[in-house]
Amino acid sequence: MLHTRAVPSVAGVSTSIKTTALKINSGEPRIAARQLPSNVVRVLRGLHRAGYRACVVGGGVRDLLLDLRPKDFDIVTDARPEQVKKLFRRVLLIGRRFRLAHVMFGREYIEVATFRGSGNEASNPEGSVVRGSNGRILRDNRFGSLEEDVLRRDFTINALYWDFADKRIIDHVGGLKDIARRRLRLIGEPRLRYEEDPVRMLRAARFAAKLGCELDRRCAEPIPEMARLLRAEPPARLLEEVRKLFLGGHAVSSFEELRRFGLLDELFPFLGPWMDAEPRAEGFVRDALAATDKRLSEGSHASLMFLLCVFYWGPISRVVAPGGSGIPRYTQITDAFRRMVRDSQYGLRPTKKMTADMEHVLGRQALLQARPRRRVNQTLKHPLFRPAYRLLCLRRRLGEIEEQCVLYWRKRAGSAPSRSWSKRRRGGPGRAGGRSANGNEKKVR
Ligand code: ATP
Ligand code: MG
Repeated sequence: MLHTRAVPSVAGVSTSIKTTALKINSGEPRIAARQLPSNVVRVLRGLHRAGYRACVVGGGVRDLLLDLRPKDFDIVTDARPEQVKKLFRRVLLIGRRFRLAHVMFGREYIEVATFRGSGNEASNPEGSVVRGSNGRILRDNRFGSLEEDVLRRDFTINALYWDFADKRIIDHVGGLKDIARRRLRLIGEPRLRYEEDPVRMLRAARFAAKLGCELDRRCAEPIPEMARLLRAEPPARLLEEVRKLFLGGHAVSSFEELRRFGLLDELFPFLGPWMDAEPRAEGFVRDALAATDKRLSEGSHASLMFLLCVFYWGPISRVVAPGGSGIPRYTQITDAFRRMVRDSQYGLRPTKKMTADMEHVLGRQALLQARPRRRVNQTLKHPLFRPAYRLLCLRRRLGEIEEQCVLYWRKRAGSAPSRSWSKRRRGGPGRAGGRSANGNEKKVR
């Protein structure tokens, strides 16, 4: 059934959009309730029985349709957070920018959002949207209808709603067609949508890499010139997005997409010039990214801190004198690293803890290379020995390390009691100090 529905205008979406309510026919993609985690179904059923609309939206629907395992399931409803709170035994209301309900099941929770509204204050006086001078949304507490909610979402493939009432998929923006064609298309006017939230450019690169989608030409074109808007993003948000890009199992393709769209230069401004100047850089970086993907596919831990060490290493290695400068190599490395962090005008900013760990891993290169006789046990027992050793191995790619040096440490590491760095860090709390039951772990670290 094709019909036209009047909806308020949001960021370049016309006031009257064509909406496609799908008919059930044999060719229509379907999702069954049994494909969802039981607690997700429990919440959907609870909302539905109380007379509210209850849908799954976003990555959960998209990934099920693509035969992928969803990372999480987001529920949306027309119930207000306070109404959701009354329906379930334990509910936490969270969020400043937009209020959400977390329905708790033990230490797990299901995230439930109320449909978000759009611009019109007269029809929607309850909440408020606060925007920064550049159009970025700073706070947004406006509730609305499903039709309005659609327009707030980023890509058409992320705006599919699985309605618990009839188990059908609601598609107002042609997301199903885009999924079938593996096409990534923003809802609305791309420039306005990027202005409103520049992180959508990183999300575009991530979904293109993860789903093997082609970014629509109109959405791809403005990115190189708009990429610099990322400079005003809060460091923590960028870091979180970069984590998803590199620790989502598609680090190699994410890196390529970021480079293709000129986004890499915004995150790591020092990397491009080094890679252009050093012919072996490509292999060095690619090996690290591929190793990260491999570790994750085997269920092992991978860290962003290590990848950042790899990215920083190239430019640092260039300024470290081969010998004879009189300044110890360790000092040269750590000084160069501190200078890079201190002098960076923009780009990804690692946390204090990450910076401290990176300084150790980078500085350790001097010690590992020198192969001292006396501090071997102490070196092997250090919780950051593993990433430091892995960086040493990778540096063979740059022609900086002899095979014998790697063998030296491999032999000793093999006989040393393993105090694994990865074990130390595994299992940190997820969002809201718990674990999301919407799917797997909410955050992959
Ligand atoms: P995944 O969880 O696999 O990373 P996702 O699409 O589910 O992908 P989430 O960050 O979990 O991504 O967000 C859930 C949904 O919220 C998205 O599918 C999209 O509809 C909406 N969304 C998230 N971030 C934005 C954004 N920056 N702008 C507009 N909509 C967004
Ligand atoms: Mg998700």
